[in-house]
Amino acid sequence: MNTASKRYIEFVRSLYSTKGRIGLHEPVFFGNEKKYLSDAIDSTFVSSVGPYVEKFEEMICNYTGSPYAVATTNGTSALHISLICAGVEEGDEVITQPLSFVATCNAIAYLNASPIFVDIDKDTLGLCPKNLKQFLNQETYVKNSICYNKKTKKAVKACVPMHTFGHICRIKEIVEICKEFNIEVIEDAAESLGSQLDGRHAGTFGSLGIISFNGNKIVTCGGGGIILTNNEDHAKRAKDLSTTSRKISDFQYFHSEVGFNYRLPNINAALGCAQLEQIGLFLNSKRKLANDYQEFFSEIGIEFLQERANSKSNYWLNTIFFTDEKERMDFLSYTNENMIETRGAWVLLNKLDPYKACQTYEISNAESISKSLVNIPSSVIT
Ligand SMILES: *Cc1c(COP(=O)(O)O)cnc(C)c1O
Repeated sequence: MNTASKRYIEFVRSLYSTKGRIGLHEPVFFGNEKKYLSDAIDSTFVSSVGPYVEKFEEMICNYTGSPYAVATTNGTSALHISLICAGVEEGDEVITQPLSFVATCNAIAYLNASPIFVDIDKDTLGLCPKNLKQFLNQETYVKNSICYNKKTKKAVKACVPMHTFGHICRIKEIVEICKEFNIEVIEDAAESLGSQLDGRHAGTFGSLGIISFNGNKIVTCGGGGIILTNNEDHAKRAKDLSTTSRKISDFQYFHSEVGFNYRLPNINAALGCAQLEQIGLFLNSKRKLANDYQEFFSEIGIEFLQERANSKSNYWLNTIFFTDEKERMDFLSYTNENMIETRGAWVLLNKLDPYKACQTYEISNAESISKSLVNIPSSVIT
């Protein structure tokens, strides 16, 4: 039997004060959720029109400092619309990282564009600016202000870095580099509500950014997403595209292009508003948990992922690293057998069937990280 696993199980059970199952990330509802949900039902506005949708967008603008926010059905649809706003079209290429949830790539594939995978940094688990710059210098050229891939001759239109598990990546460097090559930056901040770098919120550094409000994220709408941008044109186009490009003239609706039914429903926004009121509480609880974990794991000699200087992580999913592969597998099986949900990171995107033919550039950090990383229970403690 593995002593580290055994000690961990005792420790996590004492933190959550339960003998039952402990999940990786479960939502908690102890604010105005039921009140706002019944209010939405009483008003009959449960669908894509209603006051909670705009209220939710306003709350997100205030909280993140983003000048504009457009609420969508989920984080994936927010990414899809953001890529369109950034000018990504069929046959284009988009740089992203191999360590992410599949939605990052799927949104690119929905446009019949292809991802290119560059490496991550070991200390942020996000896109590595050094590797990105090397790729752009060696493998691309700029002609008539458009960046082209030397190998494929396709245009590299956008870059989608991800703020992994709530840890903000070196986003300022990434934005600088992409500017040189005329590449739009769309931040996948799906997991990073409440995370900051130098006091600035995740998702507000690129020309567009997205946040998810899925059931497993730090704040949930049931399902939901939002697009952040400081560009008024992007905001208008995002709202138009996500509401089937619907216009009204002479008391009739018409649709000016092929839009999407991606607007966040009022009933989901009602839940989101109540959840957002508690974000401060959630963040405090998660920070305390991360500190407790940090202390525990340093005692038993296991590396725990901490926020970097000048940044604030929301500690969405706490992360540890094993140097020994067998120890890692033992920890995963022993904890899961004992109803403590732990998990390895996603299988790297470049290994998945739909993306295994895509270009990868020097991704050794991602490969070694994916063999050592384990996520551990991180829900808010009630
Ligand atoms: C959750 C998540 C998404 C997608 O959000 P949904 O709301 O589930 O569609 C996208 N990217 C990352 C990194 C995520 O974790």
